[in-house]
Amino acid sequence: MNEQEFGFETQAIRNQLERTQYLEHSVPLYLTSSFVFEDAEDMRASFAEEKDRNIYSRYSNPNTNEFIHKVCAMEGAEAGFAFASGMAAVYSTMAALLKSGDHIVSSSSVFGATHSLFINYFPKWNIETSYFDINKPETIEGLITPNTKILFAESPTNPAVDIIDLELLGAIAKKHNLILIIDNCFATPYLQQPIKWGAHLVVHSATKLMDGQGRVLGGITVGDAELIHKIYLFSRLTGPALSPFNAWVLSKSLETLAIRLDRHCENALKVAEFLESHPQVNKVKYPFLKSHPQYEIAQKQMKLGGNIVAFEIKGGLEAGRAFLDRIKLCSLSPNLGDTRTIVTHPASTTHSKLSVEERLAVSITDGLVRVSVGLETVKDVIADLEQALAP
Ligand SMILES: *Cc1c(COP(=O)(O)O)cnc(C)c1O
Repeated sequence: MNEQEFGFETQAIRNQLERTQYLEHSVPLYLTSSFVFEDAEDMRASFAEEKDRNIYSRYSNPNTNEFIHKVCAMEGAEAGFAFASGMAAVYSTMAALLKSGDHIVSSSSVFGATHSLFINYFPKWNIETSYFDINKPETIEGLITPNTKILFAESPTNPAVDIIDLELLGAIAKKHNLILIIDNCFATPYLQQPIKWGAHLVVHSATKLMDGQGRVLGGITVGDAELIHKIYLFSRLTGPALSPFNAWVLSKSLETLAIRLDRHCENALKVAEFLESHPQVNKVKYPFLKSHPQYEIAQKQMKLGGNIVAFEIKGGLEAGRAFLDRIKLCSLSPNLGDTRTIVTHPASTTHSKLSVEERLAVSITDGLVRVSVGLETVKDVIADLEQALAP
């Protein structure tokens, strides 16, 4: 397919594998651990990477190739590698590119497991991370040292839904010759394409909105072909590859990404507007609400506001817990980006091990509630939130 000519949805739907001799319409599942060779020369050339072909499913597989190919087209990336989970993507990407003594500059608000990796594990290999405050991007350059190799950020952030200016990060990375890596999980390539703004690599937890139906785990890194080749060599050796079955599911999920996201975002904006008008709510954060501190930046770099709404419930920790207890329709679950609306209260759950100061450093106040708005009839979601908010 000519990837320049076709639109986003067409890429997601039609960019599939060649048909087999059975002329199937929907791509089949290739549950095979390995592939066969014609002869000794074929085998030699394949292992020498002289041929672009499948050898062993730890390296590649038709289903994972299809998934990678689609995401590359959607993100405007040259190449990619697919992983068993979002964290396998984050870890393998960093581990393949870093060496002892290297330094990372990262946004302070990153996914909890990524944060733990940076502060609890990478220092064991003499890789240190400095964090910048998302609301003070002017401090980023001051953190860069001669050893800094990677600039890492998420936007929108989890769970506070802050927005970082990707164009600014792209300019800083270029000026200081850093590898800019963006975790684009909350936006998906439908809403935001970081490569356009100068990112070298984009990582995703495909578990979230890419699957969007809470079925499989998956992850992917796409971007610059040379960097991806390093990540590929590390990953084919260490074995974090996505399973063919999950890749098959995810390739089909991508076919409905655009239409799902349109509705997710439409519903989320309605939920955000409802919450903003509610007397029990102090503050609502949604990128496409005019009240969002980085509204202008969100408008510049995102097509729509995403499906995550954060709000501050009056009454702090206890009010947050009581709110969760009164929820009837929505789910209490650590996942997000599902057809089902999910509510979480980070201070009493996912981030309860942190001190109040540590929580505040990552923008988590005691009353912060995160809603991952789903695809139910939106009036039913709003009615559930309304009855749970009533004191
Ligand atoms: C969930 C998530 C991850 C990790 O993905 P898994 O598939 O759960 O391993 C990474 N980054 C962000 C922003 C996430 O929301």
